[in-house]
Amino acid sequence: MLKIGLTGGIGSGKTTVAEVFAQLGIAIYLSDDRAKALMVSDEELKSDIISLFGEESYDVGQLNRPFIASKVFSDKKELEKLNALVHPALKKDFDLWCNEQTSPYVLKEAAILFESGANKGLDKVILVEAPKEMRLSRVMNRDSVSSDSVLARMEVQWSDERKKLLSDYVILNDDKCSVLEQVLKIHNELVSND
Ligand code: ATP
Repeated sequence: MLKIGLTGGIGSGKTTVAEVFAQLGIAIYLSDDRAKALMVSDEELKSDIISLFGEESYDVGQLNRPFIASKVFSDKKELEKLNALVHPALKKDFDLWCNEQTSPYVLKEAAILFESGANKGLDKVILVEAPKEMRLSRVMNRDSVSSDSVLARMEVQWSDERKKLLSDYVILNDDKCSVLEQVLKIHNELVSND
């Protein structure tokens, strides 16, 4: 079974594109959601996070998100340390999940697929792209957050130009191109390669 990465900068529309693939019967692994779940359920990971940031990282067993965010979004080094703990646990979880899937290929959706090195275990990568201003306004509307907080998150992600060099397919998710047509073209190719 082919393992395909689906990535793109914040607000590019990865989740929206993933939903189209899901409609075609493709199993989708949402890395951000799984990572959040593992940070609560994986005891080893939990204790590593407490060693890194202290007891305040959890509040009655739940991840103290505002505290963790305050640590990592203003400090790239701290974010890298957290990612270095989460990514091996996520990789293990993804491999176990793949064993349970029956779709012709699976999609692993991850915002920082290349940045975390998670692309290395995958057969191909799809990049979702959209103009920066559009991504910014989409996320500000979706999350009711300031432009500064979105820009800070964009800062720690690679540029689309850099990601494109390592991608096999690009989906342009602006307000002009048909996402469905682009998805169908890739889907048909992946199914025929299977
Ligand atoms: P993140 O990296 O933050 O998880 P993402 O890349 O998964 O973001 P989405 O959540 O899919 O992006 O999309 C961001 C917002 O933009 C959502 O509110 C979504 O509904 C909207 N959006 C995505 N694609 C389009 C589109 N083609 N036209 C209009 N709105 C869109």
